[in-house]
This record gives sequence, C-alpha cells and structure tokens, in this order.
Amino acid sequence: MTAETVAEAVPSSSTLSQNKSAAAASAAAAKAASGLPHVQCIARARIPTVQGPDIFLHLYQNDRDNKEHLAIVFGEDIRSRSLFRKHAGETQEARMIRGAYVGKLYPGRTSADVDEKQGLSLQFDEKDGSLVVEPSTTWCEQETLVRIHSECYTGETAWSARCDCGEQFDRAGKLMAVDHEGDIKGGNGHGVIVYLRQEGRGIGLGEKLKAYNLQDLGADTVQANLLLKHPVDARDFSIGRAILIDLGISQVRLLTNNPDKVAQVEQPPFLHCVERVPMVPLSWSGNHSEGIHSKEIDGYLRTKIERMGHLLQQPLTLHTAPTDPKTAAI
Ligand SMILES: [Zn+2]
Repeated sequence: MTAETVAEAVPSSSTLSQNKSAAAASAAAAKAASGLPHVQCIARARIPTVQGPDIFLHLYQNDRDNKEHLAIVFGEDIRSRSLFRKHAGETQEARMIRGAYVGKLYPGRTSADVDEKQGLSLQFDEKDGSLVVEPSTTWCEQETLVRIHSECYTGETAWSARCDCGEQFDRAGKLMAVDHEGDIKGGNGHGVIVYLRQEGRGIGLGEKLKAYNLQDLGADTVQANLLLKHPVDARDFSIGRAILIDLGISQVRLLTNNPDKVAQVEQPPFLHCVERVPMVPLSWSGNHSEGIHSKEIDGYLRTKIERMGHLLQQPLTLHTAPTDPKTAAI
C-alpha cells in the first residue's frame, strides 16, 4: 500500500484540509504502520425501510478481498470521505448517481453539492477534491452507535433458530432509530451497522453447514469449528475499522456482548470504543412471544458465555437438563 492510498482513507476535517502537510503526513504514517486495508465506497443510496427512518446503504471495495462489504448508515449527514471526494472532470449528475450528494434527491435536481430546498451545501478542498467537514452538513466528532455485524445467511434470511444474528441485526437497527429504549440510549436517527461478508465466523457457508451437522452430532459451536480444522473465530475486523474511519466515525458506542470485539474496534488515534452497549436476547424478556426459542439457541448462547467470554449475565434456563456428564460438558 502506498502512502497516498493510505492518506485517502484518513478522515478529513476542516483543520486537516487547511493545515494538512504536517498533520496529514503524521496521520498517514500512523495509518500505514497500523496496516489497515484501503477501502473505497463506490456507491450510496437511500433505502426507505418498513419501520423507522430511511437508511443509506454504502457499498465498499477494498484491497484485502474481493467481497462487497457494506455500511448501513442511519443519518444522511454521515459521509464517506472516499465517496464524496471529487473525481477529476466529474459532473454533478455523475456525483448524484454515485450517491455523493447532500440533502435529498428529487426530480429535476441538478447539483449534487447543493440542496437548494434544504439550504445545504458542501465545500471541497480545491487541491485534492476532499470533502471539507463542517458540522452544519457533516456528522463529526460525536459518539456514534455502531454495530459491526458479520453476514449470517441462515440467521438473517433462512429464519434459523440456531443463532441470534438476525435478532441482533434487527435490534441494532431499532436502537439506532430511537432516542431511548428502556435504560439504553439509542442513536436517535444516527448510527452505523458495518455489514461484513464473512459468513460463519469467517469459514464460509459450506463449512458452516458441516459445522451444524457436527453440532447435531453433539459438538458445541467451538468444538465443531475445531473438528473441521478451522479457528474458533476466523473473522477479521480490520476492514470494518477502515470503513468506520472512512465514515468519519471516531467515538464508538459499540453494540456487542463480545469483549474481544471492543478491543478489536480500537484503532488509535482514529477510532476509540467509548462504550459497550449490551444486546440482551429478547427471549430473556420474560415474554415468550418475543425472541428466539429453541434448544439450539440455548446451547449457542451458553457456548458464547462459557467458552467465548461473552458478557451476558442472566443465567440460561435450558429446555432440557443434561443428565449424561459427557453431554453436560459440551
Ligand atoms: Zn448466525
């Protein structure tokens, strides 16, 4: 990776763009030393949703793999630095089609950089075309609710009750939309779900299906991966960190029960986890109509707590109490 490509992913700010030589050089050097991948957002679009506010779906390319990782963004003013950077000779129409616009698109709009209806306009650095970050138009330096979510086809699409990925995904979106939910402070319309295409804790869908068969044969989720000669957790969150930095997020309120993830989000001096926001399973609410109820999910959550150190405190009530000591050990 060149110093130039690294510098592209460094978050811009008005200070940085106006006084960039020393600050940008040292930031680029620190970033290069960190070994973060280079990410580029190539398109963004507004998606109206069935509940809550519109979201803005960002599609990313990177220099580590050929997968299309995503950022699901709550808040029009959270801006990807790589998407908004001006390309040489680019028309305003081309920028609107890429999604690099301020405010809201409407039929007949001609400028990406100015939304006359909302009275919003963006400024760019004349030399390198980077977005000049101004609080009136662009979210910056604020604590932001974030979920780093790994793709789970079975849990999100095929109604699987083997894991709680689908429920956690839904919960993250709901919390970002609301001001508060009980004691938990929500995102009040701002937040980011980084959606990484690393199925089955990084081992892929085919191997995950084999692991499920091993689980039906008595292994837990950790043992099944080990029996297939995979690491317990093969996920890589470095692309997720690079995406958050590209979106100008620096102070993260991370939605997770996984203490390892808190440590993995840290990317000083650009990214800090300032709070862990727990995700308590809905099935623990006491209302049997809520959440996922299956003997598989009980075992899955038990393994997360006992073998992977997840910070869930409510004791699990198992559907069946194991009597065989060999079974009880898994
Ligand atoms: Zn899952």
